[in-house]
Amino acid sequence: MIQAHCNIVPPDILYEIIKQGKTAEEKEKAIRTLEISESLRTQRTVLTRIHDLRAPKVLEKRRIIYDANHAEDIFSLPGTPRRSETDSQDTGDGDVDNCFINTGRVYDFFKKVFKRNSIDDDGMLLQSSVHFGTDFDNAVWTGSQMVYGDGSNVIFRKGSLTSLTVTAHELTHGVTGSEANLVYRGQPGALNEHMSDVFAIMCDQWASKETTESSDWLIGRNILLGSGNGLRSLKDPGTAHPSDKQVSHMKDYHTGMRIHYSSGIPNKAFYVTCAEIGGFSWEKAGKIWYVTLRDRLREYSKFQDAADITFEVAGALYGKDSDEQMAVHTGWESVGIDAKLLSARAVNLDTKTRILD
Ligand SMILES: [Zn+2]
Repeated sequence: MIQAHCNIVPPDILYEIIKQGKTAEEKEKAIRTLEISESLRTQRTVLTRIHDLRAPKVLEKRRIIYDANHAEDIFSLPGTPRRSETDSQDTGDGDVDNCFINTGRVYDFFKKVFKRNSIDDDGMLLQSSVHFGTDFDNAVWTGSQMVYGDGSNVIFRKGSLTSLTVTAHELTHGVTGSEANLVYRGQPGALNEHMSDVFAIMCDQWASKETTESSDWLIGRNILLGSGNGLRSLKDPGTAHPSDKQVSHMKDYHTGMRIHYSSGIPNKAFYVTCAEIGGFSWEKAGKIWYVTLRDRLREYSKFQDAADITFEVAGALYGKDSDEQMAVHTGWESVGIDAKLLSARAVNLDTKTRILD
Protein backbone atom coordinates (compact mmCIF):
# COMPACT_ATOMS: atom_id res chain seq x y z
CA MET A 1 0.00 0.00 0.00
CA ILE A 2 1.35 3.41 -0.86
CA GLN A 3 0.44 6.05 1.66
CA ALA A 4 -0.27 9.68 0.84
CA HIS A 5 2.97 11.64 0.98
CA CYS A 6 2.55 15.27 1.60
CA ASN A 7 5.03 18.07 1.25
CA ILE A 8 4.44 21.12 3.41
CA VAL A 9 5.04 23.18 0.30
CA PRO A 10 2.41 22.11 -2.21
CA PRO A 11 3.52 21.89 -5.85
CA ASP A 12 1.12 24.75 -6.64
CA ILE A 13 3.34 27.33 -4.93
CA LEU A 14 6.43 25.99 -6.67
CA TYR A 15 4.68 26.08 -10.08
CA GLU A 16 3.72 29.70 -9.40
CA ILE A 17 7.33 30.57 -8.60
CA ILE A 18 8.54 28.82 -11.74
CA LYS A 19 5.99 30.77 -13.80
CA GLN A 20 6.29 34.13 -12.08
CA GLY A 21 9.60 34.05 -10.15
CA LYS A 22 11.50 37.29 -10.38
CA THR A 23 14.97 35.81 -10.65
CA ALA A 24 16.52 32.83 -12.42
CA GLU A 25 17.84 31.65 -9.04
CA GLU A 26 14.36 31.62 -7.54
CA LYS A 27 12.99 29.62 -10.49
CA GLU A 28 15.91 27.18 -10.38
CA LYS A 29 15.40 26.52 -6.65
CA ALA A 30 11.71 25.83 -7.21
CA ILE A 31 12.37 23.42 -10.09
CA ARG A 32 14.98 21.53 -8.05
CA THR A 33 12.67 21.29 -5.02
CA LEU A 34 9.87 19.92 -7.22
CA GLU A 35 12.13 17.26 -8.72
CA ILE A 36 13.47 16.05 -5.37
CA SER A 37 10.08 16.16 -3.64
CA GLU A 38 8.79 13.84 -6.33
CA SER A 39 11.56 11.29 -5.66
CA LEU A 40 10.63 11.19 -1.95
CA ARG A 41 7.14 10.01 -2.82
CA THR A 42 8.38 6.58 -3.74
CA GLN A 43 8.91 5.19 -0.26
CA ARG A 44 6.41 2.58 0.72
CA THR A 45 4.47 2.33 3.93
CA VAL A 46 4.94 -1.42 3.94
CA LEU A 47 8.60 -0.88 4.83
CA THR A 48 7.47 1.01 7.91
CA ARG A 49 5.17 -1.79 8.87
CA ILE A 50 7.92 -4.39 8.59
CA HIS A 51 10.24 -2.17 10.61
CA ASP A 52 7.58 -1.72 13.29
CA LEU A 53 6.96 -5.44 13.57
CA ARG A 54 10.57 -5.85 14.62
CA ALA A 55 10.51 -2.97 17.08
CA PRO A 56 9.39 -3.60 20.67
CA LYS A 57 6.19 -1.81 21.69
CA VAL A 58 6.74 1.16 23.98
CA LEU A 59 4.53 3.60 25.81
CA GLU A 60 6.87 6.60 25.81
CA LYS A 61 7.93 8.98 23.07
CA ARG A 62 10.93 7.95 21.04
CA ARG A 63 12.64 10.40 18.70
CA ILE A 64 15.77 10.09 16.62
CA ILE A 65 17.02 13.05 14.63
CA TYR A 66 19.49 12.28 11.86
CA ASP A 67 21.69 14.50 9.74
CA ALA A 68 21.17 13.66 6.06
CA ASN A 69 24.47 15.41 5.36
CA HIS A 70 22.91 17.16 2.33
CA ALA A 71 22.34 13.90 0.45
CA GLU A 72 19.53 14.17 -2.12
CA ASP A 73 18.31 10.62 -2.59
CA ILE A 74 16.11 8.45 -0.42
CA PHE A 75 18.58 5.58 -0.37
CA SER A 76 20.94 7.60 1.80
CA LEU A 77 18.25 8.22 4.42
CA PRO A 78 18.05 8.47 7.33
CA GLY A 79 21.73 9.55 7.68
CA THR A 80 23.90 10.06 10.76
CA PRO A 81 22.13 9.93 14.16
CA ARG A 82 22.55 13.25 15.98
CA ARG A 83 20.08 13.36 18.83
CA SER A 84 17.70 10.94 20.54
CA GLU A 85 15.78 10.37 23.76
CA THR A 86 18.88 9.06 25.54
CA ASP A 87 21.01 11.93 24.27
CA SER A 88 18.91 14.98 24.95
CA GLN A 89 21.66 17.63 25.19
CA ASP A 90 21.54 20.48 22.68
CA THR A 91 23.79 19.71 19.73
CA GLY A 92 24.27 23.34 18.72
CA ASP A 93 22.81 22.54 15.30
CA GLY A 94 19.64 24.65 15.12
CA ASP A 95 17.76 22.32 12.76
CA VAL A 96 18.61 19.18 14.76
CA ASP A 97 17.57 20.82 18.04
CA ASN A 98 14.41 22.49 16.69
CA CYS A 99 13.36 19.27 15.04
CA PHE A 100 13.91 17.32 18.28
CA ILE A 101 11.94 19.82 20.35
CA ASN A 102 9.06 20.26 17.89
CA THR A 103 8.69 16.53 17.18
CA GLY A 104 8.43 16.09 20.96
CA ARG A 105 5.76 18.80 21.18
CA VAL A 106 3.68 17.06 18.52
CA TYR A 107 4.00 13.72 20.35
CA ASP A 108 3.06 15.37 23.67
CA PHE A 109 0.09 17.17 22.11
CA PHE A 110 -1.45 13.98 20.75
CA LYS A 111 -0.64 12.06 23.95
CA LYS A 112 -1.87 14.60 26.50
CA VAL A 113 -4.89 15.92 24.63
CA PHE A 114 -6.12 12.83 22.77
CA LYS A 115 -4.36 9.98 24.65
CA ARG A 116 -2.76 8.94 21.37
CA ASN A 117 0.59 7.16 21.59
CA SER A 118 2.53 8.41 18.54
CA ILE A 119 1.53 8.38 14.87
CA ASP A 120 0.12 4.85 14.85
CA ASP A 121 -1.20 5.00 18.45
CA ASP A 122 1.21 2.16 19.12
CA GLY A 123 4.40 3.97 20.08
CA MET A 124 5.89 4.35 16.60
CA LEU A 125 9.49 5.57 16.60
CA LEU A 126 9.59 9.15 15.29
CA GLN A 127 12.49 9.40 12.87
CA SER A 128 13.48 12.66 11.20
CA SER A 129 16.31 13.64 8.89
CA VAL A 130 17.38 17.28 8.66
CA HIS A 131 19.79 18.89 6.20
CA PHE A 132 18.33 16.93 3.30
CA GLY A 133 19.64 18.08 -0.08
CA THR A 134 21.19 21.44 -0.76
CA ASP A 135 18.94 24.44 -0.20
CA PHE A 136 15.95 22.05 -0.42
CA ASP A 137 12.77 24.09 0.09
CA ASN A 138 10.46 21.49 1.53
CA ALA A 139 9.53 19.25 4.47
CA VAL A 140 8.03 15.83 3.74
CA TRP A 141 6.41 12.92 5.55
CA THR A 142 7.47 9.92 3.45
CA GLY A 143 5.24 7.35 5.11
CA SER A 144 8.00 6.17 7.41
CA GLN A 145 9.91 9.27 8.50
CA MET A 146 10.14 13.06 8.28
CA VAL A 147 12.58 14.73 5.89
CA TYR A 148 13.50 18.41 6.15
CA GLY A 149 15.43 20.66 3.81
CA ASP A 150 17.36 23.65 5.09
CA GLY A 151 15.42 26.16 3.00
CA SER A 152 17.24 28.08 0.29
CA ASN A 153 16.91 31.55 1.79
CA VAL A 154 15.49 32.43 -1.62
CA ILE A 155 11.98 30.96 -1.29
CA PHE A 156 11.96 29.89 2.39
CA ARG A 157 13.99 31.22 5.27
CA LYS A 158 16.87 28.97 6.24
CA GLY A 159 15.99 26.84 9.25
CA SER A 160 12.27 27.66 9.08
CA LEU A 161 11.14 24.27 7.82
CA THR A 162 11.61 22.63 11.23
CA SER A 163 9.08 25.03 12.78
CA LEU A 164 6.21 23.64 14.82
CA THR A 165 3.25 24.03 12.43
CA VAL A 166 5.28 22.46 9.60
CA THR A 167 6.31 19.48 11.74
CA ALA A 168 2.82 19.01 13.18
CA HIS A 169 1.18 19.27 9.74
CA GLU A 170 3.44 16.60 8.27
CA LEU A 171 3.27 14.20 11.22
CA THR A 172 -0.53 14.45 11.16
CA HIS A 173 -0.38 13.02 7.63
CA GLY A 174 1.06 9.96 9.35
CA VAL A 175 -1.85 9.89 11.83
CA THR A 176 -4.39 10.22 9.00
CA GLY A 177 -2.58 7.47 7.10
CA SER A 178 -2.98 5.07 9.99
CA GLU A 179 -6.64 6.00 10.64
CA ALA A 180 -9.06 7.29 7.96
CA ASN A 181 -6.33 6.94 5.30
CA LEU A 182 -8.11 9.49 3.09
CA VAL A 183 -6.98 9.11 -0.52
CA TYR A 184 -4.83 12.01 -1.68
CA ARG A 185 -7.04 13.43 -4.41
CA GLY A 186 -10.38 15.17 -4.80
CA GLN A 187 -12.43 15.98 -1.70
CA PRO A 188 -10.91 13.11 0.36
CA GLY A 189 -7.46 14.56 -0.46
CA ALA A 190 -8.60 18.03 0.60
CA LEU A 191 -9.89 16.51 3.87
CA ASN A 192 -6.49 14.84 4.34
CA GLU A 193 -4.81 18.25 3.97
CA HIS A 194 -7.47 19.83 6.17
CA MET A 195 -6.82 17.39 9.02
CA SER A 196 -3.10 18.16 8.89
CA ASP A 197 -3.78 21.90 9.09
CA VAL A 198 -6.35 21.47 11.88
CA PHE A 199 -4.09 19.40 14.15
CA ALA A 200 -1.05 21.55 13.28
CA ILE A 201 -2.75 24.78 14.33
CA MET A 202 -4.19 23.15 17.46
CA CYS A 203 -0.75 21.84 18.42
CA ASP A 204 0.69 25.32 17.89
CA GLN A 205 -2.06 26.93 19.99
CA TRP A 206 -1.70 24.24 22.69
CA ALA A 207 2.07 24.73 22.91
CA SER A 208 1.62 28.53 23.28
CA LYS A 209 -1.59 28.34 25.35
CA GLU A 210 -3.37 30.47 22.74
CA THR A 211 -7.12 30.73 22.50
CA THR A 212 -9.25 30.81 19.37
CA GLU A 213 -9.33 34.57 19.78
CA SER A 214 -5.61 35.17 20.31
CA SER A 215 -4.19 32.80 17.65
CA ASP A 216 -3.30 34.06 14.18
CA TRP A 217 -4.43 30.70 12.68
CA LEU A 218 -1.43 30.59 10.32
CA ILE A 219 0.31 27.44 9.09
CA GLY A 220 3.97 28.06 8.22
CA ARG A 221 4.10 31.43 9.94
CA ASN A 222 6.94 33.66 8.69
CA ILE A 223 8.65 30.92 6.72
CA LEU A 224 8.27 32.56 3.29
CA LEU A 225 10.73 35.21 2.27
CA GLY A 226 9.22 38.28 0.69
CA SER A 227 5.59 39.18 1.18
CA GLY A 228 3.08 37.02 2.97
CA ASN A 229 2.46 36.02 6.56
CA GLY A 230 2.54 32.27 6.12
CA LEU A 231 1.60 29.35 3.87
CA ARG A 232 -2.08 29.08 4.75
CA SER A 233 -4.64 30.75 6.99
CA LEU A 234 -7.48 28.73 8.51
CA LYS A 235 -9.22 31.92 9.57
CA ASP A 236 -9.05 33.63 6.16
CA PRO A 237 -8.18 31.06 3.48
CA GLY A 238 -6.64 32.67 0.40
CA THR A 239 -4.99 35.58 2.25
CA ALA A 240 -1.75 34.08 3.64
CA HIS A 241 0.51 35.20 0.77
CA PRO A 242 0.16 36.81 -2.67
CA SER A 243 -0.12 33.46 -4.55
CA ASP A 244 -2.52 31.91 -2.02
CA LYS A 245 -5.46 30.52 -4.02
CA GLN A 246 -7.31 28.72 -1.26
CA VAL A 247 -11.10 29.06 -1.39
CA SER A 248 -13.36 29.21 1.64
CA HIS A 249 -16.87 28.51 0.28
CA MET A 250 -18.54 25.82 -1.83
CA LYS A 251 -19.69 28.46 -4.33
CA ASP A 252 -16.02 28.74 -5.37
CA TYR A 253 -15.40 24.99 -5.48
CA HIS A 254 -15.23 22.96 -8.69
CA THR A 255 -14.49 19.31 -9.38
CA GLY A 256 -10.81 18.76 -10.04
CA MET A 257 -9.72 21.71 -7.90
CA ARG A 258 -6.26 21.26 -6.39
CA ILE A 259 -6.54 19.84 -2.91
CA HIS A 260 -4.43 22.55 -1.26
CA TYR A 261 -6.94 25.10 -2.62
CA SER A 262 -10.18 23.30 -1.72
CA SER A 263 -8.93 22.37 1.76
CA GLY A 264 -9.66 26.00 2.65
CA ILE A 265 -13.38 25.09 2.74
CA PRO A 266 -13.26 22.59 5.66
CA ASN A 267 -10.48 24.68 7.25
CA LYS A 268 -12.80 27.69 7.41
CA ALA A 269 -15.62 25.49 8.76
CA PHE A 270 -13.30 24.34 11.57
CA TYR A 271 -12.24 27.90 12.37
CA VAL A 272 -15.85 29.14 12.54
CA THR A 273 -16.78 26.17 14.75
CA CYS A 274 -13.94 27.08 17.13
CA ALA A 275 -14.90 30.77 17.08
CA GLU A 276 -18.50 29.84 17.96
CA ILE A 277 -17.39 27.68 20.88
CA GLY A 278 -14.61 30.04 22.04
CA GLY A 279 -11.68 29.29 24.34
CA PHE A 280 -9.14 26.59 23.53
CA SER A 281 -9.72 24.91 20.17
CA TRP A 282 -8.41 21.50 21.23
CA GLU A 283 -10.74 21.07 24.19
CA LYS A 284 -14.03 20.65 22.33
CA ALA A 285 -13.78 21.21 18.57
CA GLY A 286 -10.49 19.29 18.59
CA LYS A 287 -12.11 16.34 20.34
CA ILE A 288 -14.95 16.29 17.79
CA TRP A 289 -12.50 16.39 14.86
CA TYR A 290 -10.23 13.77 16.42
CA VAL A 291 -13.01 11.21 16.94
CA THR A 292 -14.19 11.96 13.40
CA LEU A 293 -10.73 11.33 11.94
CA ARG A 294 -9.94 8.29 14.08
CA ASP A 295 -13.23 6.43 13.98
CA ARG A 296 -15.54 7.69 11.31
CA LEU A 297 -13.98 9.03 8.14
CA ARG A 298 -12.98 6.56 5.43
CA GLU A 299 -10.72 6.59 2.39
CA TYR A 300 -13.28 8.18 0.08
CA SER A 301 -15.11 10.48 2.52
CA LYS A 302 -16.16 13.84 1.12
CA PHE A 303 -16.95 17.25 2.60
CA GLN A 304 -20.62 16.38 3.20
CA ASP A 305 -19.53 13.23 5.08
CA ALA A 306 -17.14 15.24 7.25
CA ALA A 307 -19.89 17.79 7.98
CA ASP A 308 -22.48 15.14 8.87
CA ILE A 309 -20.07 13.07 10.95
CA THR A 310 -18.67 16.01 12.94
CA PHE A 311 -22.27 17.11 13.57
CA GLU A 312 -23.19 13.63 14.78
CA VAL A 313 -20.05 13.20 16.89
CA ALA A 314 -20.67 16.62 18.51
CA GLY A 315 -24.16 15.43 19.43
CA ALA A 316 -22.79 12.19 20.89
CA LEU A 317 -20.07 13.97 22.90
CA TYR A 318 -21.93 17.06 24.08
CA GLY A 319 -25.63 16.32 23.61
CA LYS A 320 -28.23 16.74 20.89
CA ASP A 321 -28.83 20.42 20.12
CA SER A 322 -26.02 21.39 22.51
CA ASP A 323 -24.13 24.64 21.89
CA GLU A 324 -21.21 22.57 20.60
CA GLN A 325 -23.37 20.70 18.09
CA MET A 326 -24.90 23.98 16.92
CA ALA A 327 -21.41 25.47 16.57
CA VAL A 328 -20.43 22.62 14.24
CA HIS A 329 -23.56 23.27 12.18
CA THR A 330 -22.77 26.99 11.99
CA GLY A 331 -19.19 26.20 10.96
CA TRP A 332 -20.22 24.12 7.96
CA GLU A 333 -23.10 26.47 7.12
CA SER A 334 -20.58 29.32 6.80
CA VAL A 335 -18.93 27.48 3.90
CA GLY A 336 -22.17 26.46 2.21
CA ILE A 337 -22.62 22.93 3.59
CA ASP A 338 -25.73 21.86 5.52
CA ALA A 339 -24.62 19.35 8.18
CA LYS A 340 -27.30 16.72 8.80
CA LEU A 341 -27.65 13.66 10.97
CA LEU A 342 -26.48 10.65 9.00
CA SER A 343 -29.82 8.96 9.66
CA ALA A 344 -31.39 11.74 7.58
CA ARG A 345 -29.78 10.32 4.45
CA ALA A 346 -29.52 6.73 3.40
CA VAL A 347 -25.89 5.83 3.94
CA ASN A 348 -24.16 3.00 5.69
CA LEU A 349 -20.62 3.91 6.57
CA ASP A 350 -20.20 0.77 8.67
CA THR A 351 -18.77 2.84 11.45
CA LYS A 352 -18.40 2.48 15.14
CA THR A 353 -18.07 5.38 17.49
CA ARG A 354 -15.44 5.03 20.16
CA ILE A 355 -16.06 8.12 22.23
CA LEU A 356 -13.06 9.46 24.09
CA ASP A 357 -13.10 8.86 27.80
ZN1 LIG B 1 0.00 18.36 3.72
